[in-house]
Amino acid sequence: TMRESYSSENDSGFKCLNPQLRPIVIVGGYGQLGQLFQRMFELSGYQVRILGRDDWHRADEILHDAGMVVVSVPIHMTEAIIAKLANLPTDCILTDLTSIKSGPLQAMLEIHQGPVVGLHPMFGPDIPSLAKQVVVYCDGRQPESYQWLLEQIQIWGASLNRISAIEHDQGMTLIQALRHFTSFVYGVHLAEEDPKIEQLMSLSSPIYRLELAMVGRLFAQDAQLYADIIMSAPQNLAMIKRFHQRFGDAIEMLERQDKAAFKQAFDQVEHWFGDYAQYFLVESQGLLRQANDSTRH
Ligand code: NAD
Repeated sequence: TMRESYSSENDSGFKCLNPQLRPIVIVGGYGQLGQLFQRMFELSGYQVRILGRDDWHRADEILHDAGMVVVSVPIHMTEAIIAKLANLPTDCILTDLTSIKSGPLQAMLEIHQGPVVGLHPMFGPDIPSLAKQVVVYCDGRQPESYQWLLEQIQIWGASLNRISAIEHDQGMTLIQALRHFTSFVYGVHLAEEDPKIEQLMSLSSPIYRLELAMVGRLFAQDAQLYADIIMSAPQNLAMIKRFHQRFGDAIEMLERQDKAAFKQAFDQVEHWFGDYAQYFLVESQGLLRQANDSTRH
């Protein structure tokens, strides 16, 4: 399968599209995502250096001949750390992996005169390979200088999506902030209700197990990362408040036992999904079949 061929390529290495590139420096490269990108760059024949939290006293030495600098530090520190990168070689590519894009991209364009591009890998560090994963990118400056990087990421198996930083951050309000927040609240609710997980599992259909997995996996990850993502923009809180309002409205409907209103709202949403409702039904059947297969083995 495609997945297997990519993961075996992971072991043997990838084609190097820019063998002339001077060293790549990953700022925060001892972290989770930084390690993944270090591995991918090294498997592709690039020389990688790490600039970690305790390395700033020798930052000039690490950065003076960098061909590319990749910033991968906790979100709340990103802009302050980018501001320290004032003396990069002019032809050096400056990029970041931050889950939000407007602020970091702006900070990179302000501090560096050379090529700039923002990246957002839409995956965490726990993936076996980049096959079928998505990397979103935001053009900053001199795109011709970093086309090789975009192609390199595609050689790793990922597909690329170009978007403006502002549109990205608006999209992430729903895709990340609201979704992570509702998982967080559902987790809090479960912990307070304190059912026996084993019993939930034994009573549940595959779709509920999948939902439990989607929520549970959040709590196997870094609280700081999710706090940063959810609280990264005022528009996130505004979106979450609108959701809360709709939740309240729907509860009033339940209190009124208003099945007619329920059906009316249901029809409205069905209409909004349009052909996608049917498409998602079929897609979820495929996912559930896979989930079922993998939990039985
Ligand atoms: P992480 O906490 O594992 O790694 C961050 C690293 O930065 C750590 O090694 C930390 O020691 C280091 N660091 C802290 N202060 C520093 C400083 N002053 N100078 C240099 N290094 C410093 O976090 P992560 O999950 O790898 O996230 C890094 C970036 O990747 C974030 O911007 C995040 O938004 C983005 N990202 C993460 C994920 C994910 O699922 N983990 C997914 C997509 C994007």
